[in-house]
Amino acid sequence: MVVLCASYLLLLECSRTGNYFFYEYGAGLAIRLEKDRMLAKKGFPMNSLERIGAAIHLQIPDRVPVDLHNFQTAAFATGLPMSEVFRNGALLAEAMLQAWREFGHDMILLENGTACNAQACGMEVIYQKDSAPVAEKPLISSLVEVVGLEVRDPYKAFPMCEILKATRILSKELGDRVWICARADQGPMDLAAQLRGMDALMMDIATGEEEEAIHALLDYARRVATRYALALIECGGHSTSIGEPIGGPDLMSPRHYRQYAWPQEKRMVDELKQHGVILHNHICGKTDRIVEEFVATGAQVLEIDHKTDPHKIKDAARNRTCLLGAIDTGLMAFGKPDEIDAACKNLIEIWKPDSGFILGPGCALAPQVPAANIHALIEAAERYGRY
Ligand SMILES: [Zn+2]
Repeated sequence: MVVLCASYLLLLECSRTGNYFFYEYGAGLAIRLEKDRMLAKKGFPMNSLERIGAAIHLQIPDRVPVDLHNFQTAAFATGLPMSEVFRNGALLAEAMLQAWREFGHDMILLENGTACNAQACGMEVIYQKDSAPVAEKPLISSLVEVVGLEVRDPYKAFPMCEILKATRILSKELGDRVWICARADQGPMDLAAQLRGMDALMMDIATGEEEEAIHALLDYARRVATRYALALIECGGHSTSIGEPIGGPDLMSPRHYRQYAWPQEKRMVDELKQHGVILHNHICGKTDRIVEEFVATGAQVLEIDHKTDPHKIKDAARNRTCLLGAIDTGLMAFGKPDEIDAACKNLIEIWKPDSGFILGPGCALAPQVPAANIHALIEAAERYGRY
């Protein structure tokens, strides 16, 4: 009876096919109550919100919590064109809810890909049928054009407004018990590279002739991401996140990371902390050469890729910040469940002590990751992650 009262149907039209279909909100209630009962039986008394909160605040949870960076996998699983899901906040929320109903992970990472902020700033973006959207040609052809750029209102700018809608839906459905990280992707360096063009920005940085103008572009990009981050929290996100892979050592020297990306990341963390907002910082690839700076941004969560030395980053982060990751997304896509179990067991042995650890993929999961592999990840946390 409770389930019937808590559910309602929404009729949506797929603008691509013209077909109508129903989405049911609230249907997860019975499933999550059952999941809570099952987990309580396993001796894990915390709910997901409490478990993640403990890990982020460097307190000891009942077990290692789990996140899924699965926006592509969740969208693919709907059977709808991903281009449709990533442009529609209601569809995106339902995709993430469907995935949560199946896997019961502790943290939902919500986003629609790495072109959201760029599009909101006015860039052309291509929405693809079977992968995340990509930004087209740069918005500015010279650094002097930065002065003409304005920070758009995320409640009006597409697709930010749709991700805000998805955040509100997820918050209403699960926000009292599951941690929602509504991602303000992209970070200052990544967004700057899109707006200016990757090659052009790298050349600007290499020549260093217009340092002040580069900082002005990065400053603009940071203000865009910060404004969006605050709106995501207003709509119910428990934390937010920036992706900064362009700033990582795989693409940029540590010296240039310190000179250009780091000051903006630090300032963004500090500004959001003044509003009580928790920020994750995500740098793909091997971050060994910047682990101290990465931690010193002050971001409460660092999202770590599998290429980073887990011992080195743990030594730098211990009692200072929470680590999220770092299972190889290639293994998640192409490995076997027992291989994923072994990788999780190994990482849990290194990162579990002293808390500050959320187990998950090291980056975004591909669209077609076998469900058995995701279950293996979740079950490894239950099997090896007890405190
Ligand atoms: Zn990544």
